Amino acid sequence: MMNKPRFNLVSLSGGKDSTAMLLAMIERNVPISMILFCDTGLEFPAMYRHIDKLNSYVRDTLQMEITVVQPEYPFEYYFKDIPIKRKADSPVIQKYGEQPNGYGWAGSRMRWCTSRLKDMPRERFLRPYREQYDIYEYVGIAADEQYRLERKRNQDEQHIHPLVEWNMSEADCLQYCYDCGFNWEGLYEKFKRVSCWCCPLQSLDELRVLYRDYPDLWKQLGIWDEITWRKFRADYSVKELQIRFDMEAEWLKNGKSIRSREFYRALRERLGKEGAL
Ligand code: SF4
Repeated sequence: MMNKPRFNLVSLSGGKDSTAMLLAMIERNVPISMILFCDTGLEFPAMYRHIDKLNSYVRDTLQMEITVVQPEYPFEYYFKDIPIKRKADSPVIQKYGEQPNGYGWAGSRMRWCTSRLKDMPRERFLRPYREQYDIYEYVGIAADEQYRLERKRNQDEQHIHPLVEWNMSEADCLQYCYDCGFNWEGLYEKFKRVSCWCCPLQSLDELRVLYRDYPDLWKQLGIWDEITWRKFRADYSVKELQIRFDMEAEWLKNGKSIRSREFYRALRERLGKEGAL
């Protein structure tokens, strides 16, 4: 059987690690067949501007464009409209007494958005390339992300992790991008990780920044939370988070601790909740 030609695919999420990987590959003249970005539609506006800027750089240096793959339907369709047939004994039906449409918010054990908005469209797009080529995928895992490497080892024989080979840590990647003139308009000064702005799996610290600095996005988050069957987080709805963050600001303004038992007691009372928060 004839060997298929090699195809060097760069997986670009737009974050600091994959951006640093791409920039360093260009600098080191590593051959690139395609740069692939899967667009969930849920990136921060500054991230889309970063992708545009990076695309101009790629156009100037490699005379190619970043390939953008879109999901079959937008996020909102999967979130609230897609008909889902659940078994009669499913916890969702037990709880709501009906068959709600849409997957609702992602949970730690149900990241439907990763598969529907990223993995499936990507695989569908790559299918014809896989028939024609031997694909080597360049993945931006930093040298200090050992836990992700361990998980991937053995399972991805054709994955290449150049940042590990070049010993570039997460901090090195960010600095390298800054040195090359890519700064995401300060996103990484506010967030440790940058992914979908509406992700319910992000930390309270990140949600606090979202509430404080991105009122339009926060407003949309609240609208979505009102129309879906599944609460934003097990511990807080978007409205409840807003009450908490407002109360924190109020307490801090009055010089009171928001880490104290008194704060949590007052918060529970304001939210009308029992138990720990
Ligand atoms: S970052 Fe969050 S919302 Fe976005 S695809 Fe991953 S799990 Fe889903």
